Amino acid sequence: MSEMLVVGSVAFDTIHNAEGKHEKIVGGSATYASISGSFFTGVQLVGIVGRDFPDQVVSALRERGVDLEGLEVADGETFHWEGRYTDDLTARTSLRTELNVFADFQPKIPERYRDTPFVMLGNIAPELQLSVLEQVRSPQLVVADTMNFWIESKLDALRELLRRVDVLVINEEEARQLSGRHHLIHVAHELLELGPQTVIIKQGEYGAWLFAGEHVFSAPAFLLEARDPTGAGDSFAGGFLGYVAAAGSADPAVLRKAVIYGSTVASFCVEGIGVERLLTLTRDEIEQRVEKFRTLVEFAGS
Ligand code: AMP
Repeated sequence: MSEMLVVGSVAFDTIHNAEGKHEKIVGGSATYASISGSFFTGVQLVGIVGRDFPDQVVSALRERGVDLEGLEVADGETFHWEGRYTDDLTARTSLRTELNVFADFQPKIPERYRDTPFVMLGNIAPELQLSVLEQVRSPQLVVADTMNFWIESKLDALRELLRRVDVLVINEEEARQLSGRHHLIHVAHELLELGPQTVIIKQGEYGAWLFAGEHVFSAPAFLLEARDPTGAGDSFAGGFLGYVAAAGSADPAVLRKAVIYGSTVASFCVEGIGVERLLTLTRDEIEQRVEKFRTLVEFAGS
């Protein structure tokens, strides 16, 4: 079993939704991705927090097998993001982004992590994602996430990054924005032209598509009552890469199953507020829901 390296934000999130205001709960792309990956494999986290970040959370991550040598603790406050969801959870608005210690973040990959074969570049500035690639040594698979903010402000660096990643994980709206196309088949084709061999397009509550050359795979969505979609994308990516790392292979059949495992972990994530549901989740529960996914789409037979 191989380990995976996760680089991204570790944060406090303030979330407004139909249930009320959830003030300064733990979040961040690297937090969601590493908890999700830790169901499958050992995870090494690279990120930064301020001195205000709670020790209990650090201990909880460590107990799950997340290696925190790469978590820098700096003078100052932890990154804080505040967002509001519509009551039907289909849209969110960012109300506040206080970068704090994250403003000067320069990912430093500990020597011990540099040969880790599976690398997840969480949603941070593309230059920082590139600097991670400068520090690691011939990874087997690099997965990158990005968002509209970087598409609009750092397109050149993002294009350079995409030439060097194996898998791009992106939501449908941002995939359309980046490709300039509308129909999914054209969107996928354009994104594959930018460099990655595999593109995964997430459709939120409607599932995900995987495109790799001529190979296409569609994962259904799981019907559930979502409470907080924050971190769903990072949980998908973390679960996806964790499954691939545990398998030690990025063969097409492994990637298909990894999409289902990533979707499954994300489906649990949205059932709780922040990371709370992920922290009580077990591997058995994941396997049971993967079976439900299977029956959802099974139709072959006599
Ligand atoms: P997701 O819902 O998967 O898009 O990710 C939500 C997480 O992204 C939250 O926990 C935030 O802390 C984090 N986040 C929000 N804005 C940024 C940003 N500009 N850079 C890095 N992480 C961010």
